[in-house]
Amino acid sequence: MSKNDSSIKEEGLIIVYTGNGKGKTTAALGLCVRAAGHGNKIGIIQFIKSDWEYGELKGLKQLSPEIDVQTMGAGCIGIMGDNKPLEEHKKSAGKALNAAIRAIESNKYDILIFDEINVAISLGLIKMDQVLELLKNKQAHLNIVFTGRNAPDELIEAADLVTEMKEIKHPFQKGIPARKGIDF
Ligand code: ATP
Ligand code: MG
Repeated sequence: MSKNDSSIKEEGLIIVYTGNGKGKTTAALGLCVRAAGHGNKIGIIQFIKSDWEYGELKGLKQLSPEIDVQTMGAGCIGIMGDNKPLEEHKKSAGKALNAAIRAIESNKYDILIFDEINVAISLGLIKMDQVLELLKNKQAHLNIVFTGRNAPDELIEAADLVTEMKEIKHPFQKGIPARKGIDF
């Protein structure tokens, strides 16, 4: 099956899932499941999100050791009762970025998912220049997926695949709150 297996090793893609509609993180997780099925090694680094009852954290454990996850954010920013100083969010995002750099340097992954990193960049928690530097240093075979709203233009420019989730309808508009298994 080596056609697919070898092509994933030959040339890595920069993938961006952005937009205001739902499905960005879900798309990245779907890609993980598919790639794990081919024995690829996948690392997920979550920006912004903190260790909460996200179903995927438990679900992904069942796909270990193909997939490992590091959840490194300090939680939602400015919503859901957050009153942490921005500096604290910046510190967490800086740590997550260092983890991303280390993951690239480790040379052990076929795919890295940087979940919600677009939000971290657009809120100024980390700098786009740091991200471009990281891309410059990546091994040729490595695929990287960037998720989150408001992907910066420079990232879109650097990417090979960009999908914008467009909101047509969302249950939230009808007052239906986030659901276990669907939203988290
Ligand atoms: P998901 O994790 O479900 O794939 P997402 O990654 O596209 O969603 P984010 O922008 O990361 O969406 O949003 C985080 C949370 O907000 C998720 O729980 C998601 O279900 C919810 N959400 C996503 N889109 C919307 C929306 N248009 N209105 C309200 N809530 C949303
Ligand atoms: Mg998301």
